[in-house]
Amino acid sequence: MRKQGLEAVEIEKGGKVEKDEQEWRQTLSADQFHILRDHGTEMRESSPLLHEKRQGTFICAGCGQPLFSSEKKYESGTGWPSFWAPLSEATESVADTSYRMTRTEIRCARCGGHLGHVFPDGPAPTGQRYCMNGAAMDFRCDPAADE
Ligand SMILES: [Zn+2]
Repeated sequence: MRKQGLEAVEIEKGGKVEKDEQEWRQTLSADQFHILRDHGTEMRESSPLLHEKRQGTFICAGCGQPLFSSEKKYESGTGWPSFWAPLSEATESVADTSYRMTRTEIRCARCGGHLGHVFPDGPAPTGQRYCMNGAAMDFRCDPAADE
């Protein structure tokens, strides 16, 4: 079950969201907490957002920050929602050397929540594959696309 807590976290653009562990546990589901705050990874093929094909925006499940446009989503075949570029300044990258690998972790720039990793085997024009956990995001359908 997803908890609805996003409306409570309306803050100005560019501001940071900082909460302690207890506060995050109150606003996130167990799955969301595991990924966003504890660097977890969801099971492949487990996210409903994997096959989300509508026009819209993928937002951070932790703080509501817009992260990815549906226009930059593609089928990577990995089993995780994949994008070739994030929205500008929506995310930050951090070197991740866990599991004896050197990877680039992608975090939400506003709340610091773990979203996934980026790999250099994506499609043109960026050649990047942003491999995201669907449980770390929510989808907002573009209202104009419904008409
Ligand atoms: Zn966030």
